[in-house]
Amino acid sequence: MIKFLDLQKINSQYKDELKQVASEIIDSGWYLLGNQVSTFESSLSNYIGSKHAIACANGLDALRLIFRAYIEMGIMQEGDEVIVPANTYIASILAITDNRLKPVLIEPNEASFNLDINKVEEAITKKTKAILVVHLYGQACYNGELRDIANRHNLKIVEDNAQAIGAKVSNLKTGNLGDASGFSFYPGKNLGALGDSGAITTNDNELARIARAIANYGSEVKYQNEFSGLNSRMDEIQAGFLSVKLKYIDKENLIRREIARYYRENINNEKIILPQVVSGDEDSHVWHLFVVRSKERERFQKYLLDNGVQTLVHYPIPPHKQKCYKEMNDHTYILTEKIHNEVISLPISPVMTKDEIVRVVDLINQFS
Ligand SMILES: *Cc1c(COP(=O)(O)O)cnc(C)c1O
Repeated sequence: MIKFLDLQKINSQYKDELKQVASEIIDSGWYLLGNQVSTFESSLSNYIGSKHAIACANGLDALRLIFRAYIEMGIMQEGDEVIVPANTYIASILAITDNRLKPVLIEPNEASFNLDINKVEEAITKKTKAILVVHLYGQACYNGELRDIANRHNLKIVEDNAQAIGAKVSNLKTGNLGDASGFSFYPGKNLGALGDSGAITTNDNELARIARAIANYGSEVKYQNEFSGLNSRMDEIQAGFLSVKLKYIDKENLIRREIARYYRENINNEKIILPQVVSGDEDSHVWHLFVVRSKERERFQKYLLDNGVQTLVHYPIPPHKQKCYKEMNDHTYILTEKIHNEVISLPISPVMTKDEIVRVVDLINQFS
């Protein structure tokens, strides 16, 4: 069986270093808000090029904390609108609605699966305060036009960088393109912890201070609470693991890129539509997922499984059709719904062997 993602194999590459750091942390007797977290935060801000990195409990919280901090800063208030791609993972939308802000869904560009920047301006109203761009599947979604729109209308650009750590747009990394960015280190992400964790990056001093406080009970000084905060801290042990794995992220992203290139050059089947790097710059995509489209997805998925290849669907139901968003259930987003009906993700990970990659391609080329 070719697994969709073999986490055991990914982490066993670094087993000795991970065990070493775990053992140091156990012996240290210090498990939260310590050196491991602050060291990881410096390494992450250094890697991204941002002034600040704030560790937190998971990727959803990273995004929630950003919007919550903007509310505390008086930049946003209940009922304000946030523009967001309609085909994103539910967490992007939850971060908005959890703060009683209103998501305004925009159709994606079919070639990139990312927010169609040409459709942003027509969706802006007096209540619009931010654009939440999602670098979906690992492909950066940003250009000068988006920045101009945000500047013209005084909007914040918030990045959901859960899937694209390491991607670049003209030498700036995702996570350093907008005003603030949320990261997820869920185990299956390109930089995965061995449990939950997340982070925020920003160049905004005030946002950084407030988000950090909110993540720790709204407190900067122990037992003094400036905000009614959350408990959203990163564990020392996850920070230790992440510092080990951050050293290898560029190497791993490069392997993903090579597998993606092999797939794109060698899969040749008229029933299968391949993903594109829309900017033409290979550095803009880190291939968190390799998502193809097929009009016969269910049959294609079963064919691959019967032949020993696991695939997944990201994602089967769009946010506006979820039960939790009843108020949006009758909205129609034609491209989003088409994408959700056709997408299927092939295995791609830094531990796939050449034989496995070739086998996936051969099987797909024989699918009829
Ligand atoms: C994974 C993910 C998140 C949420 O991250 P968690 O760490 O699971 O909370 C948010 N947005 C996107 C696009 C994701 O893929």
